[in-house]
Parts: sequence; C-alpha cells; structure tokens
Amino acid sequence: MEGVTSEPSTPVSRVRRPERSAVVDLAAIRHNVRHLKKLAAPAALMAVVKADAYGHGAVPVAQAALQGGADMLGVAHVTEALELREAGIKAPLLAWLHTVNTDFSAAIEYQVALGVSGWELEEIARVAQDMGATAQVHLKVDTGLGRNGYTLAGWPAAVRAAASAQQRGAIDVVGIMTHLGAADDPQAPENQEQLDAFQRAVQVAREAGLTPSILHAANTPGTFDAQDMADPTSMLCDMVRVGIGIYGISPFAERTAEELGLIPAMTLRTTVNNVKEVPAGQGVSYGFNYRTEQPTTLALIPLGYADGVPRIGTGGPVRIHGVSYAEVGRVAMDQMVVDLGEPGLASDPDRNPLGAEAVLFGAGANPSVREWSQAAQTIDYEIVTRISPRVPREYVDSVGISHYQPEGDPAWALTLEPASAEATQKVAKDLAGHLRAGDLMILTGELGAGKTTFTQGLGAGLGVREGIISPTFVLARQHPNDPQGPNPGGPMLVHVDAYRLATATEVDDIDLEQTLPTSVTVVEWGRGKVEHLADSRLEITIDRAVGARDNDGAPNLASVLADLEAETETGEDEPRTLTIRAFGPRWSGQQPTDLI
Ligand SMILES: *Cc1c(COP(=O)(O)O)cnc(C)c1O
Repeated sequence: MEGVTSEPSTPVSRVRRPERSAVVDLAAIRHNVRHLKKLAAPAALMAVVKADAYGHGAVPVAQAALQGGADMLGVAHVTEALELREAGIKAPLLAWLHTVNTDFSAAIEYQVALGVSGWELEEIARVAQDMGATAQVHLKVDTGLGRNGYTLAGWPAAVRAAASAQQRGAIDVVGIMTHLGAADDPQAPENQEQLDAFQRAVQVAREAGLTPSILHAANTPGTFDAQDMADPTSMLCDMVRVGIGIYGISPFAERTAEELGLIPAMTLRTTVNNVKEVPAGQGVSYGFNYRTEQPTTLALIPLGYADGVPRIGTGGPVRIHGVSYAEVGRVAMDQMVVDLGEPGLASDPDRNPLGAEAVLFGAGANPSVREWSQAAQTIDYEIVTRISPRVPREYVDSVGISHYQPEGDPAWALTLEPASAEATQKVAKDLAGHLRAGDLMILTGELGAGKTTFTQGLGAGLGVREGIISPTFVLARQHPNDPQGPNPGGPMLVHVDAYRLATATEVDDIDLEQTLPTSVTVVEWGRGKVEHLADSRLEITIDRAVGARDNDGAPNLASVLADLEAETETGEDEPRTLTIRAFGPRWSGQQPTDLI
C-alpha cells in the first residue's frame, strides 16, 4: 500500500493475529441493510443469513443486520434457525427448506416460522396439534422456478387444506411467498410472469379464506429491479428477502457493488509467508502450468482450496503492498503463488514482502470478490459461501471505508476486545510496529481503564527505554529509543498528560511541536486540545467498567491521586473495549486490518 513503510516484519511479531482470516466488517453489514431497507420501503426487510450468513458467520451478521433495521431473519434449514435462537436472537425467523427428518416440534417450540411447499403441511399441522400449539406458516408457491413450492396446479387444493388446518388452530398462515428465477436479469420476461402468477395465487388463497399479511417475492436483485419498474410494489410486496446484498456483493453481472451503494463486508487475507528469487523457466505449482519468463521474485500465499479458494481460480488477484498481482500456477490445497514480476525483492530490505498482508478480496482498493468468481467461472455467492471453516472469521466494526466518509469523520475505526491487560499491551505493541516519527495518538479512557498499560505496550513495540508510568503532573515525559532494544534508531516516545491543560493554547506552551517530528507522541486526555498539531492522528479509546469519572468524563482530583498511587491498573483480567479511530491522510489509504 502506498506510503506504508513496511519493514519486512518477522512472522513472530504477528502471532496475535490469525494467520489467515475472513475479516467481516459489521459496520458494512449494517450499512447495506439500511441501504436496502430504504430501497424496499415501505416493504419490510428479511435478512437472509442461511449458510452461515453466506460464509460471514450467522450470529454476528444476524445481530448486525437487526441493528441495521432488518425486520426478520431468513434461513433455509430449521437447524440454522435454532442456532440463532440458541445465541439469544429473538427476532422473527423463517426457515423454508425441510426434509422428513426436520425437527418441526423444535421449530414450533422456538417460534420459527416455517415455509411450506407441500407434504410438510400435514406433518407440521399434526406436530403442532400434538403440542397444543399453532405453527406459523408461509405457504410457498412455485411460479416458475421449478424447485420448491406448490405447483400452480396443486395450489387451490393446497390453500383449502391450509385453511382447514388453520381453522383447527394447528397453523396460522401468516405469509405467502415465491422465489424468482431470473431477477438478476431485469429484462427477463419471466420476472413479470412470475409476479403475475404470484398475484393470482394470492387471490386464490384469499378466496379460500386465508388472510396472509406478509407477501414476499423479491430477493436482492429483485429489490434493485423494483427501482426501475412501473409498479415497484408488485415486486417488493410486503417484504423483501435479501441475502447477497447485505454482504455488500452485487448480484448483477454488469453492475458493481459500489454502483449499487453496497460495501463489501468480507476481506479474505493472510500474510506472505515465503519470498524467493528464481531464474527464468522456474516451474510453479503442480503440473508446472506456469513457468517464469524471466528472473523474478515469487511470493507464497498460504491459502488454498482447503480454505475455499477455488482450485480453478488461477489468475485471481492478491494485493500486496498496494499492488494486485495475479495468482500463477495451480491453486493447491494449502497455498498458491504470485509472481511479483521483478527480481531482487527477497534481498531488498525495504521491499521484501515477507510477512506483509496479502488480500485476496475486500472492500475499497482491494480486489473484489468478482475478480475471483470470474477467474473461477462461478458467481460471487459461491466464493464467499465456500470460504472454509479452516479460515477463522474475524469481526471488525469500521465506521466505513474511507471514500464513503464525509470530511472530518474518521477514515476508519476498529474495535477490539482484549481480554486482559496483557492482551491490551500486545495490541499496542503490534500497532507500534506500524508507527513512525511524526505520528500523533490521542488516548482516552477512564482512570484505571489501562491507558498506561497501553502506552507501555507501545513503548515495548517502539523499543524505547523502559519506565513508562502515568505522566500525571509531569505533563510530558520523553522515552528515548533504546539502542540495545528491538528497534534501534527508531523514534522516541513522548508521553503526555493533557488533563490539566485546559486548551490548545496551553498545550502549545509545552512545545510538543519540537519533539513531534522525531517521536511518536501519545497524549492522554488530549481530545479537543492537540488535533491541530498534525494533519493525521489515531484516537484510541479504552473502555472498561472500572475507574472513576465525573459528569463530563474528566477525572476529579481525588481519583487522579488514587490513580497515581495505584500506578498500574487493577483487575488485570477484565475485558475491555479498545476503539481505534484513524483520521487524516496518513491513515486513510489503509485498512485497519493492515495494522493490528
Ligand atoms: C437465498 C434465498 C434468498 C436470498 O437471495 P439473494 O439473491 O442472496 O438476495 C431469498 N429467498 C430465498 C427463498 C432464498 O433461498
């Protein structure tokens, strides 16, 4: 990535991060749900989180979708619905794909509404009656897709049977649904034909005495198609069932996620784990399908088809240091190779990418899922859904990708939850590996939240002389770089307590400008006081359920003294929330996941 000094960090310094991960940005999920809900309004929105939320992780995605305004959650299997209930999710839920082994009684007990396409009707009614309960049912009609759902020919008998079961109190037909077969092609005549057939089917159901309140047909592409239709309501009905869109992926061959106003939620990343110089004619991977044309540098990427990267995806992109390289040779079970296109990188300390982030796809400047689905001759749905369980999912909550942000807002934000003081120090130490002279950080947190702990971690990572303690009453302490430490010749650390400095003017009196260019400057209680010192900054907030606070969030003197006395925090094992907000050009070109 441009402007990033990426010292070839040793693999050891990165152990805290998963070696490979699918990073899921929950802020992107919320954004996409809000965006789709606006398009669908006044129709409600069902967030489809089947298949582990298309590989993104069902529970965290469901929670984020509900925060974004989803009215209901949809899954294929009852077992998927029960997992959400077990996680404490109480929102309305619908599951629609059943087998003779489906546990309908559990579904009824946990208030999971059931899609019904035929044989299930009598079975569900019988189970409900045995339980003395009423099953919530959405009847599904096949208007042309030829998969699940009652045939149009069988529909009149189906709705009569449903009406009779409803009269007995066994079921309650709350919805009628159908599924479109070609909504990703807005010009396909079948779209309107299916919607017309759906309306006729609803009419037949009403004539049989049913009074469904939720009619639903549109998936993600249908929701976008409706925007250009003469009668959008015929598509949007009472609710849309959106899956792929909430993950920030376009269902259309010809339109990008960005054009649709969506933010891709998943980033698939790892780090370069081997870099080597090779001569012309070097074969690469099984079958030697690729041979280097000239002397060059090869980088090894430790992701393969066991991780869900398609074996036929040769040529898919991998972004390293801000440049997208095409994968070369066969994708193997565990690994793949990119040709960096020039010799000598392995021995160039400034440009050797060993240990650097390698991103296969993600938001913003990263390659898109689409490039991989094209390389693998499939659709984006399949790429994200098949990222395997061997790849841990990581959750971040970025405020947004930089170009979506209005001025003055952070370029990004990252929320972490270190479980202990030690873990907090580790985050700071990792972050310190990316800091350089001139960087400004503002550190906010209640007394005892762990600001000093965090700064000690920074000091360790920067390799400065030890002895970092609370700077209270000292105003500013300088910690010179330790020539014997891990980072000889690096910047010093200037640790400031701005608590007693009321204004920016008073801050100016302590001359931080002098040391700023040659140091990493950390200012506690600096919000609203030191922002003018640099065009970029990191704001770090530590929240922990201890420590004293008076009304405006500043400490009172007694608690400052108590803190001084305690010096280090107590309750070391308590979890805390650490939020990093990045402002200014220094940080806007980067993804938070490049740093921590
Ligand atoms: C998967 C699914 C959806 C969601 O489709 P997207 O194209 O991902 O929006 C909607 N309805 C049904 C019945 C589905 O199976």
